[in-house]
Amino acid sequence: MSGNWVQHIGDGQLVYGLPKHMEAVAGNGKTDYWEVVPGPNACATCKAMRGMRFDRYPGPVHPHCTCEIRRVPPPERQPRVVAYGLLQGNEDAILEKVSAGQKITVTLLNLGPLPAAFRLLVDRMEWRATRYLQMGDEQSLYFSKFGDTPMTWEVFLFYLGGEGSSASYSIIG
Ligand SMILES: [Zn+2]
Repeated sequence: MSGNWVQHIGDGQLVYGLPKHMEAVAGNGKTDYWEVVPGPNACATCKAMRGMRFDRYPGPVHPHCTCEIRRVPPPERQPRVVAYGLLQGNEDAILEKVSAGQKITVTLLNLGPLPAAFRLLVDRMEWRATRYLQMGDEQSLYFSKFGDTPMTWEVFLFYLGGEGSSASYSIIG
């Protein structure tokens, strides 16, 4: 191509030298984007595409274009505390609905004074239990699932503590 930017390429009008459907977007960091990776012998038009992000598959830049069009996933989410709180007394329970990544860590700390265990139900799938924790002991349980992030997680916590005992929990993901 001779660098003529006002040329029709396939499907209609050009926007700043690009077909409308190839108008580049900034990328919001949360969803996939596409980019054109010009080959070593790419023409000027294709080279000009380097570094641009498209919010959907842009299609070839021009007929017979051999540049790679690559789908790029968003950067991995940094885990953070999405919920925390206290459980007090025998059989205290709480249901947390949180928005997190594909992995969560549930950490349970028995504040005592009596030994206690916890039962957990995540996404209404399967009960898990901690060992019996002495005062000041903690245990973490890990869960993962696949899908677009952020994901919704439902965590039901059930405290098998003695009367007058308490515990704290945190969910990181
Ligand atoms: Zn090309």
